[in-house]
Amino acid sequence: MNDPLRIPFSACPLCDSQTLVQEATADCSRHPLYKQPLSPVMNWNHCTACGHVFTEGYFTPEGAALVFSSTNTSQKLGQDLERQRMLAARMVEKVLPYVSDGTWLDVGFGNGALLFTAQEYGFTPVGADLRTENVTQLKALGISAILKNSNWKRPAPSSA
Ligand SMILES: [Zn+2]
Repeated sequence: MNDPLRIPFSACPLCDSQTLVQEATADCSRHPLYKQPLSPVMNWNHCTACGHVFTEGYFTPEGAALVFSSTNTSQKLGQDLERQRMLAARMVEKVLPYVSDGTWLDVGFGNGALLFTAQEYGFTPVGADLRTENVTQLKALGISAILKNSNWKRPAPSSA
């Protein structure tokens, strides 16, 4: 990999195995949100130990800022809300037999339909997303929202 906007994984991000094989390569230059200088080629690895398939690297802060500087129409807050609300209600209703109140966290909330619907069912919604615009708009509606970039560090594997 020679992509200055990605940091290569040295091992499987789930199990730390280093037994990785290349799974696929694709040209993403025709994706509606593709922008230069992002690499037009994406490669995926397959971990032979746990079966996880993942891109060969994660974005640098600069790369993530470029990727998440625009939004697919379907991911804009409130997009197609009435139809999305019906789909989200089916998800919330699957959870209700187990939990019927408390905080509902949606990581990557996109159009927000799941959060809005969970709130209607009595949950306290909290959203996390990579897009500044979505987070700002959700906060403006009075819902807790966290801007999370991809520059996080996963916890070190437990030694226990
Ligand atoms: Zn693995």
